[in-house]
Amino acid sequence: MLERISISSSRRNEMVSITSKVAQVIKKSGVKEGLCIVYVPHTTAGVTINEDADPSVKTDILNKLSDVIPHSWRYQHMEGNSDAHIKASIIGSSVTIIIENGKPVLGTWQGIFFCEFDGPRTRTVYIKVIGNK
Ligand code: ZN
Repeated sequence: MLERISISSSRRNEMVSITSKVAQVIKKSGVKEGLCIVYVPHTTAGVTINEDADPSVKTDILNKLSDVIPHSWRYQHMEGNSDAHIKASIIGSSVTIIIENGKPVLGTWQGIFFCEFDGPRTRTVYIKVIGNK
């Protein structure tokens, strides 16, 4: 089963929790034991798993990425969004999550985040669910 979900951001750099959406797709698939692949088909956005308890963690991740990879530098890419391309490559374009008893296996504090680096805009995230019902 392959599902496409739409994610909207409201800032240029933003981490949007998609944990509940991923859990819904797994539930809808009926898969009880298996794997879930969350894939972002964009060059200036990514997906990661990190803490979803203290919102300061998201702020710190985004601020430090912008500190290390500033918007303006002597980039050659003419589109003016090289920082977003670099951040997207560092964060990565997919995560794989284990499914057990029909639910994503995540640590107590973990959440799945869509990471926008060239927003605000609306993006597509692919969720592929593989396994036994
Ligand atoms: Zn570009």
